[in-house]
Parts: sequence; C-alpha cells; structure tokens
Amino acid sequence: METILTPLGTRGWMPRDGRQTMCTLVQVGAHTFLLDCGTGVSRLLDPELQAQLQESPLTILFSHYHLDHLAGLAYLPGIFPERKRPVRLAGPREGFLSQGLRQACEQLTASPLSSRHYREFPFPVEIQEFGPEGFQVDGIPIAVALQDHPGGSVTLRIGDAVCYATDLAAATRELPLAKGVEVLIHEAWSPQAQAGPHSGLLEALDRTEKAGVSRLVPTHFSPWMDEAEIQSLATYSTATVKVLVPTEGFPFRF
Ligand SMILES: [Zn+2]
Ligand SMILES: [Zn+2]
Repeated sequence: METILTPLGTRGWMPRDGRQTMCTLVQVGAHTFLLDCGTGVSRLLDPELQAQLQESPLTILFSHYHLDHLAGLAYLPGIFPERKRPVRLAGPREGFLSQGLRQACEQLTASPLSSRHYREFPFPVEIQEFGPEGFQVDGIPIAVALQDHPGGSVTLRIGDAVCYATDLAAATRELPLAKGVEVLIHEAWSPQAQAGPHSGLLEALDRTEKAGVSRLVPTHFSPWMDEAEIQSLATYSTATVKVLVPTEGFPFRF
C-alpha cells in the first residue's frame, strides 16, 4: 500500500522563514491522518489538497498539547467550511499525559481565546482519548509510547508505514516503536547533540539506526536554525540511513 507523506509544518515553537509549526499529512490507503495540528495545517487551504481531503476520513493524531502542535485546531472551521463527515481528534488521555485531549481542546477553543468552540465547528468533531494501549482507525493499528518531555508526549506509529517522534528528551536511548517502519519522522531541534527536553539530528540518527529504519525525515526545527542549516542535514546521511529534508507542501511517496 502506498504511503504519501506531506510535511505541512516543520518548525518547533514558532514559525520562521516560511516554515510553519508542526503538522504532517499522512495518506495511507483511503485514510488520511494529520500528525499534530500546528500552524502548518493552514497549508490545507491549497485547492488541490482541499479537493482531496474535503470528504475523506480524517484523523488528527496529537503527540501532546503544546501550542506549536495544537494551535491549528482553531483554524479548522475555515479549512473545512463545507465538510459533512466528522473529523476525529485522537490524543493521549489525562493520566497518560498531564492533561487530556478534551481539556486541551476546551481550553484552546473557549472564550476569550477563540470565537468558536469545537462543538460548534461546521462539521462533527469526534474526540478519542487513548492510553498506552493505543487504538485502531478503520483496522489500522495506532501504537503509542510515552516520551520524556515537560507534561509528557508520545511516540506515534501508524501501521507499519510511519513512526513519529518529536519533543522527546535528548537522553532517550532508543525508540522500540520505530522498529521495521518504512520511515521515521523525528525531531531535529539542532544539528548538534542536545541536552534537555529536545533531541537533535545526531540523537535522531542514532535512534533510526538502532531501530533498523532506512529513511529519516527530520522535523521540529528550532527557531534558531536557518534554511541553509536545515538543508545541510541531508549531508548527515549514512550508509544505512538516508536523511530526507522536508519541504513544506511537497510530498514524499513510499
Ligand atoms: Zn514542539
Ligand atoms: Zn513540546
């Protein structure tokens, strides 16, 4: 089954130089996923993507609820004004992370931060909260694992196609969930080795190799990385791992 992966937002914390905050479109068979919903979701205003997505089953998977992963939720009524089918929002529950998806959606879409509560969006919204056991979307298993990050965050895996790991401590040793996937999308907060709540490209490469994965798409670039530095990440490819630098709006096909 073909997987199409379209990076829509690849910055952590704040947008810079035309790169938006975190959002990746993943199309697996007939199902469409968004990994996180930062400002990059605004790229779905592109007429071609609009036409493709307007009525396809859509699940937005959240790694956690920091604003660079959540802010675009408030844009959805403008992106899907005519949509009839539901949009499923799926994220970690309270107790798994410090707060659950429902609380995060309430807070972001209540007055005075938003004029439209998520229950008043033009399309039905389904909220699905999950724990460490994960869940299924139309027969596609979604596996999750807790990461070390302030308030918590999770690794997400969609079937055998994609594993997504962002906002995780530099000291993380490996990513068992990534074993055997076609592509790993992983945070690269900087080209240098990191310490603290974020991981750089060197940690990402090490975890990709340990998991036996051959493709690494770096993402969640810090606001201090300029475009030349982001493009230079391709030169870190090794004999076993190809580093695929994302351009927002341009798909990879696997
Ligand atoms: Zn982030
Ligand atoms: Zn975060």
